[in-house]
Amino acid sequence: MQPERERDHEWLKEFIRDIPDFPKEGVTFKDITPLLADKKAFTYTIDAIAHHFDRDEVDKVLGIEARGFMVAAPLAYRFTAGLIPVRKKGKLPWHVESQSYELEYGHDHLEMHKDAIEPGERILIVDDVLATGGTARATAQLTEVCGGKVAGLATIMELSFLEGRSKLSGYDFFSLISY
Ligand code: AMP
Repeated sequence: MQPERERDHEWLKEFIRDIPDFPKEGVTFKDITPLLADKKAFTYTIDAIAHHFDRDEVDKVLGIEARGFMVAAPLAYRFTAGLIPVRKKGKLPWHVESQSYELEYGHDHLEMHKDAIEPGERILIVDDVLATGGTARATAQLTEVCGGKVAGLATIMELSFLEGRSKLSGYDFFSLISY
């Protein structure tokens, strides 16, 4: 837990919109579009994540489809780093490495181009929301299979009641706000 920092970033919650029963009944979708649309909130979000990882060398920032791309791209620019998209099965055009991950019912696959990472490169993994942590953990495994080192993982928010953080022990995981 990071109580100090979480309190500091608490004002960002004003820019997260709860959508009940989306995409299905019982799920409260955390909509980040108000945060993206606000110049102060969006700039602050990127700067605060960059600040946390500033001491680390980051060669590439990896964004998880699709909202992760929106956070990863400005971070990559900020770090003068490369950008890697990780996508759902069948979307990437070149040879891929694939990693399966658990869903509530069944499983799915995340994919990355085989040549996206040079051996030993330090990769910062970015998404909008950490829920159960399955997506983030699968992406960390994919990064390592492709020869990268996980410099850290960052999300705008975590749904702490789902305990996704416990799936990421051993990694530097940082989120700005927690529900
Ligand atoms: P998980 O693998 O359970 O940690 O789910 C994380 C992925 O699902 C991220 O890519 C999120 O964008 C998305 N996600 C999961 N739950 C929510 C939610 N309540 N609101 C918005 N996105 C979510």
